[in-house]
Amino acid sequence: PKKQLIVVTPTYNRALQAYYLNRLGQVLRLVPPPLVWIVVETDAESVETADVLRKSGVMYRHLVCTENSTNVKDRGVHQRNTALDHIKHHKLDGIVYFADDDNIYSLELFESLREIRRFGTWPVAMLAQGKNKAILEGPVCNGSKVFGWHTNDKSKRLRRFHVDMSGFAFNSTILWDPKRWQRPFATPIRQLDSVKEGFQETTFIEQLVEDETQMEGTPPNCSRIMNWHLHLESRGLVYPKGWLLQKNLDAI
Ligand code: UDP
Repeated sequence: PKKQLIVVTPTYNRALQAYYLNRLGQVLRLVPPPLVWIVVETDAESVETADVLRKSGVMYRHLVCTENSTNVKDRGVHQRNTALDHIKHHKLDGIVYFADDDNIYSLELFESLREIRRFGTWPVAMLAQGKNKAILEGPVCNGSKVFGWHTNDKSKRLRRFHVDMSGFAFNSTILWDPKRWQRPFATPIRQLDSVKEGFQETTFIEQLVEDETQMEGTPPNCSRIMNWHLHLESRGLVYPKGWLLQKNLDAI
């Protein structure tokens, strides 16, 4: 039997939300099951999101995170924790992947998630903030062995692991069976809201693995780009000059 994929997506209302959720939903629809899409909103379930999910044809769970963030930079942290709690509580067995709604994903990515046994990571292509160039973030590999990292940003050099939120996935058993990986945890595995920007991923991953030897680089030699994190929205590139949209395009 194929391994289940557990895709976790925090989402919130903004102009392109319907576009993003439909786009991601249609990719997930093409992934052979079993796959469950855990979509997490804040405060309340919106009818618009419920509608997109219902029509997606993907098996999903629509969750709400009631923990309010005081820090605007948190972007989805508490929502991902809500999903982690849900996975743990219901012992959903599979490969957990944090797929933000605005990124671009190839089908090949979801195929390679199924190859992961414990913790997998791969390079993600992105646009460098303010530098007008494309960069990679993620592992440098020999076969599946991770032996280095693409590092670009001076301010982030101190990170232990240079991995994007959309550049790793892990086996859910790690959430409730700590002894399995010989790493007993005192506290539940969570994303932390007090972490400095850019350090969310490494802080989370440090709770899952000890070092590179416990990681699986994928695909072999990490030779292909399977998803893109363009950060277009945060720099306003999406909107033609003079456009300003407040509402979800679907709700106009
Ligand atoms: N997000 C959210 N609430 C927010 C901000 C972000 O649910 O207040 C979600 C967003 O929909 C996306 C993820 O968190 O799925 C990452 O957000 P964003 O794309 O803004 O972060 P970046 O890509 O810039 O790191």
